[in-house]
Amino acid sequence: MAFVVAKFGGTSVASPERIQMVARRLIASKQAGNQVVAVVSAMGKTTDELVGLAKALNEDPPAREMDMLLSTGEQVSMSLLAMAIQARGYKAKSFTGWQAGITTDRNYSRAKIEDIDADRIKREVERGAIVIVAGFQGLTEDGDITTLGRGGSDTTAVALAYGLGADVCEIYSDVDGVYTADPRVCPRAKKLDEICYDDMLELSSAGAGVLQARAVEFAKKYNVVIHSRSAFTDTPGTLIKEVTSMEQAVISGVAHDTSEVKVTIRDLKDQYGIASTVFSALAGNMVNVDMIIQNVSEEGHTDLTFTCPESDLERACETVERVLPQIGAREYVVDKNIAKVSLVGTGMKSSPGVAARAFTALAENQVNILLISTSPIRLSIVVEASQCANAVRCLHTAFDLDSDQVFEETQLSAEEIAAKMNKGR
Ligand code: ASP
Ligand code: MG
Repeated sequence: MAFVVAKFGGTSVASPERIQMVARRLIASKQAGNQVVAVVSAMGKTTDELVGLAKALNEDPPAREMDMLLSTGEQVSMSLLAMAIQARGYKAKSFTGWQAGITTDRNYSRAKIEDIDADRIKREVERGAIVIVAGFQGLTEDGDITTLGRGGSDTTAVALAYGLGADVCEIYSDVDGVYTADPRVCPRAKKLDEICYDDMLELSSAGAGVLQARAVEFAKKYNVVIHSRSAFTDTPGTLIKEVTSMEQAVISGVAHDTSEVKVTIRDLKDQYGIASTVFSALAGNMVNVDMIIQNVSEEGHTDLTFTCPESDLERACETVERVLPQIGAREYVVDKNIAKVSLVGTGMKSSPGVAARAFTALAENQVNILLISTSPIRLSIVVEASQCANAVRCLHTAFDLDSDQVFEETQLSAEEIAAKMNKGR
């Protein structure tokens, strides 16, 4: 018998049939003697649709109203799931984020959980109910509804698992665990049985969509064991936890991210205060900068390149244009056709030669590197978007990650994949 928090993503509750599947799964868990709390996302693409509705009425929707709106998606799925369970003769009760005692700061659309008082949920569980909580939402101290950022239901689930002292936080989605690479891009990707928090965190931040990075951060901080698994099968997925096996691979996985763009400011003065001016202005305009690269200067001038999410590009351009005269530069160039490919592994720390091996593999496959950046457990390169799949595959092979099994449905050529990806075109 265990105390289980089980989170179901949008695809897992996308239709009445799928909600029935979730209801059956929760009831089975309850029958097996577990205490069960479920956290649900909004049905299917509901959140995107709500964003669309808002934008149709106001180009720049006020943050408070946006959170009011988006929090409704999860309320629909939680109540439907409770009804489905009750129809099968079991006790179930749904709760909004605030009823579940989740208090957040006031940063609408990306609020952070500040406190969690799970007493009410605990009482209901002890009375024998399957409790369902709306993911992705909380309440500020002054009683306003907030949301936790896209994919935030994962964080709700991990936070509740911590607040309730649950044994495990199961995260159900349409993928059956954490893979060494995205199987849609890399047909020889394989599922990991377990992965440590640090590697998972790096993979999530580097573009692996399976878990929200913030949820992993929370889990690491409070030592919550996450089990990432499929909502459609019973096969075990991947455990994300502190200790992994003694013999750790050098590389846990290869992630890719095509959502960023590259901005280069040309010929700026090589002088103190320039970087401070540029990045203070970008920060002031809420541009989320990822990589920053500046080269040695020649004749008192240098180039400065940074990457940021494409969604921040408009603000980035505005900002750069404004500061150009202050930093003695005349022009900047934007490149949207890029992909970031990252090798991730805690084992990197104690194993020299990772960069050499990676660059050799890329060279042998004629992949040109545009930018390079590293952390103690990550090596990221930026390549042309059309080279993304190629880069992922050859790195995957070079670091012995290839599985014997091939994902047949994803046996597309690297070019076909590039064409499918938004920016490969
Ligand atoms: N419904 C929200 C979203 O689509 C939260 C979540 O699914 O985790 O981002
Ligand atoms: Mg989601």
